[in-house]
Amino acid sequence: LIIFIPAESEPRVAASPETVKRLVGLGFEVVVEAGAGTASRIADDEFAGSGAVIGKAADAGKADVVLKVCRPTAAELKSYRQGAAVLATMDPYGKDAEVAAMAKAGITAFATEFMPRITRAQVMDVLSSQANLAGYQAVIDAAYEYDRALPMMMTAAGTVPAAKVFVMGAGVAGLQAIATARRLGAVVTATDVRPAAKEQVTSLGAKFIAVEDEEFREAETIGGYAKEMSKEYQAKQAALTAEHIAKQDIVITTALIPGRPAPKLVSAAVVASMKPGSILVDLAVERGGNVEGAVPGKVVTTANGVKIVGHLNVAGRIAASASLLYAKNLYAFLETMVDKETKQLAIKRDDELVKATMLTDAGKVVHPAFAKVAE
Ligand code: NAD
Repeated sequence: LIIFIPAESEPRVAASPETVKRLVGLGFEVVVEAGAGTASRIADDEFAGSGAVIGKAADAGKADVVLKVCRPTAAELKSYRQGAAVLATMDPYGKDAEVAAMAKAGITAFATEFMPRITRAQVMDVLSSQANLAGYQAVIDAAYEYDRALPMMMTAAGTVPAAKVFVMGAGVAGLQAIATARRLGAVVTATDVRPAAKEQVTSLGAKFIAVEDEEFREAETIGGYAKEMSKEYQAKQAALTAEHIAKQDIVITTALIPGRPAPKLVSAAVVASMKPGSILVDLAVERGGNVEGAVPGKVVTTANGVKIVGHLNVAGRIAASASLLYAKNLYAFLETMVDKETKQLAIKRDDELVKATMLTDAGKVVHPAFAKVAE
């Protein structure tokens, strides 16, 4: 079995010296494209030292398995063998043509971000491992843009007040943002639409603020995600948070709804009500954004001197950590799909992890959420 790890168009890489060592230990041949780990501070020598062969992009053509960070490009698809298994964060919503192209290329594509949030699959949960780091990095990015100190400092020359940080969306990224802001000494509040978030927020020492009506009590899906809230709820939520946001120094938004555009939580009028020098970090910017005026990939300064941070691929801003965790997630999943005796790929198509993540197989789009679109 040959496993290929390409260099990506972004800083992260889908293998680490540790995962290469494990794969080689299982008896597989691992080929890493030269320079693949550079932006994650993993030198080719380190991969080689763990047993990988350092190769080139064209080596993808002989691989049975390709481990990737991003969805394969058209050119990459052309280079793969028919029947190759490709594991990546496929980001397939609204990308019907790209999904169809993967089917046409004959690859068995796995969208690793669809891994069910069940105990057995925790070690394979790329959304959690990357969101956790993104939540941390969002606070670091906010602190970098903020021109005051975050903790309260009582000095002989006077007192610096603690920064007020409000985190909107208390899932994996939001909870880590809360914890990080607390560690930096900020006074932290947070909101979410799922009732389960309340206890998690308060257990981290932050105050929970939300419209806790009937709809709120039913906002969590069986999968643990948020539903898209009604117009009425959104209006009540906006009214409740508007006044609060005006008093904040830093607002970090992380709210997402699977398969839907991100909910708009902060209007331009609310941004305009904030004090000059305040910071908004919109972690949902790639999915349409929670903050009106956030620009993907840019730090914008509004007319009233508020900065809106819209960095893309925030986990990639902390690539050396993100790659190690991502690589481990993919390794753990791949390990469930290989036969250690025959040393061959043995995909169990009735396994719930496979069913949840497999997008294309044997020339067809097989994932229920996308199969219809492709017909
Ligand atoms: P996500 O990235 O889909 O969304 C981020 C947060 O935004 C969520 O908490 C969501 O409720 C919130 N949100 C959505 N709409 C909102 C709105 N209008 N206003 C305010 N907040 C809004 O979520 P996630 O971080 O992937 O986590 C989803 C859930 O899965 C959480 O309950 C998390 O604890 C759970 N989880 C479980 C496991 C596990 O058991 N293995 C692993 C990871 C996550």
